[in-house]
This record gives sequence, structure tokens and C-alpha cells, in this order.
Amino acid sequence: MPTFVHAEKCDGCKGGQVAVCMYICPNDLMKLDTGRMKAFNQEPEQCWECQCCVKACPQQAIEVRSFQDWVPMGGAVIPLRTDNSIMWTIKFRDSEVKRFKFPNRTTPVGSIDPYADKPPAGEINSPLLFTEANVALPTI
Ligand code: SF4
Ligand code: SF4
Repeated sequence: MPTFVHAEKCDGCKGGQVAVCMYICPNDLMKLDTGRMKAFNQEPEQCWECQCCVKACPQQAIEVRSFQDWVPMGGAVIPLRTDNSIMWTIKFRDSEVKRFKFPNRTTPVGSIDPYADKPPAGEINSPLLFTEANVALPTI
């Protein structure tokens, strides 16, 4: 059930430094054909259908080919992500379309400081792991 790219929608991320789908894929599967400026899944059998590239593509050019036993031929599941929500478009084989929209965050975009309360970078002598800055160590 790998991803595939609608070539007519893909703009190669406008020739930017890195294509979004290449950047986001945790398995390094997406590749940009720099001659055509079209992305493709270079190793479809390795795709674990995490949908990261599908959600991240700014052109909505990527889809996941679904198994026909749960999404009959002609059906499709397409996510559309915005800053604060995700909308899933479900296309059924009989061409019925249903959309489901869900909020995906409770804080304003850009308001999270991922390094807050964490030790400054470079403190390699600290006995704490990076994520346990506020955890009291047991005394022996
Ligand atoms: S993220 Fe979308 S538009 Fe950008 S290269 Fe990949 S498929 Fe093409
Ligand atoms: S669905 Fe996930 S694993 Fe598959 S190509 Fe996209 S980002 Fe990579």
C-alpha cells in the first residue's frame, strides 16, 4: 500500500533546497527527479504508509494506494493538513464523498518552545537526560 505521486500536481517544491516529501519521510523513500522536477517513491515496498509525506506535501500531490479489501477499487483517503486542523476526504467507489475535519493542536502556531526547562546544549557532564531536566534524581 505504498504512496504514489500525481505528477501533474507535483511542482518539485518549486526547486527549493529540499523537497518536503524527501525531508519528511522517516524511511528516506521519496526522491526528486531533478530533471523533471517530479517526486516519486523510490522503494514502494518499503513504505509503511505513515502518511507523513501525504500530509506534508503543499500541493496535495501524494496519495497512498490502499488495499482493495478495505478501500474498494476507486476509493481513496486523502488528508489535507492546515496549521490547526486536518481534514480527511473519503472517496467511495460509488463516487460518494465524505469529509471529516479534526483540530490537531490546542496552542497557537509557533508558541511552543521545545527547549523550555531543558538543560542548555553543551552540558554533556550533566547526569540528566535531555528530557528529564526537572526530574529529581534519587539520593542514595
Ligand atoms: S512535497 Fe509534493 S510538491 Fe513537493 S516534491 Fe514532494 S510530491 Fe512534489
Ligand atoms: S507514507 Fe511515510 S514511509 Fe511512505 S513514503 Fe510517505 S513518508 Fe515515507
